[in-house]
Amino acid sequence: MGDVFAELVGQDEPVEMLRRAAAAAARAIAGDPAGAGGMTHAWIFTGPPGSGRATAARVFAAALQCERDGVGCGECHGCHTTLGGTHADVRIVVSEGLSIAVRDMRALVMRAASSPSAGRWQVVIVEDADRLGERASNALLKAVEEPSPRTVFLLCTPSVHPDDISVTIRSRCRVVPLRQAPAAAVAEVLANRDGIDPERAAWAAAAAQGDVDRARQLATDEHARLRREEVLAVPRRLSSIGACFDLAQAMVNSARREAADAVAESDAAEKAALEQALGAGGTGRGATTAMRGSAGQIKELEKRQKSRSTRSQRDALDRSLKDLAGFYRDVLITGLRAPVAVVHADIEQVSAAAAERWSPESVLRRLEAVLACQDAIERNVKPDIALEAMMVTLWRG
Ligand SMILES: [Zn+2]
Repeated sequence: MGDVFAELVGQDEPVEMLRRAAAAAARAIAGDPAGAGGMTHAWIFTGPPGSGRATAARVFAAALQCERDGVGCGECHGCHTTLGGTHADVRIVVSEGLSIAVRDMRALVMRAASSPSAGRWQVVIVEDADRLGERASNALLKAVEEPSPRTVFLLCTPSVHPDDISVTIRSRCRVVPLRQAPAAAVAEVLANRDGIDPERAAWAAAAAQGDVDRARQLATDEHARLRREEVLAVPRRLSSIGACFDLAQAMVNSARREAADAVAESDAAEKAALEQALGAGGTGRGATTAMRGSAGQIKELEKRQKSRSTRSQRDALDRSLKDLAGFYRDVLITGLRAPVAVVHADIEQVSAAAAERWSPESVLRRLEAVLACQDAIERNVKPDIALEAMMVTLWRG
């Protein structure tokens, strides 16, 4: 028998907590009220990027819908459809833009209040609960405060800091803290489950800083490896103020290309599906009215796609900045002779040479510049501007 929780690499304590809750949930469904102690209606999954917040929410949802007493077998209809995103009683809110629309949230909360169609739970997953605006947050709070008996909310945020989730919502939820998985655990999964060469798996796991998906991408996708190499060459190429601006522009362009590749296929498929649904051709008054309506729908779709592309571009930049931050961290720990493993083992000589040249204070200033840039982009500062400012600090030190 399979186990959906196997996806959560290096997260023993959270997995234990979720298993107990799913088992209690199954007892509650079986009509044993005394057994429901480990279960609750609202959960927050927290952890740094790449710790698998969204994955944790999905596998927990699968276990709740599992037809084999909530074990999360990964094989029954409930598990299968939940993981595949087609379960009728599991709704997933993904913010494709920079925030979650209040309209989407209200519609979702309404539907979540209905009884589950398959007779188990009505599950709502909000993948970026930190991107709820105030009004969307209020709509969610109402639902979390007065949940229907069979509704479960699973919210994912980087932390429980008030900037990420409102204090009142937080107070209604049980928190599942996830951590960055140890590189060894990630490498083991890549080698044993995905059949990746152990040496490459170990390298990718370390370079991905605990992020299983990113590690898999680095191990299997040559373009991803090349982009990483280009980013890690940045510190060596900062030779003048002109180079600062050129490198900032190159990084923005590269993220733009990566995002375009990532969304091209789904954009085209969505547009074709919509056009087919609307039907082409026809004459007469009825057809003219229909055309006017469909122009609106196409516009709406284009707007949604544009916002997804923006999001995807920012995610690509964030990955590059994480690689860069890893480099300066390597320089810092090498200079301080800290007994920890470096992130980018393949350019260990480069970080060691930089540690000789730069004082710990100036390395720290550079590391802070990268973190500040990540932060600025997350807060919607124009990427070109944020990157240019960062490059200048990286050059001057
Ligand atoms: Zn199952």
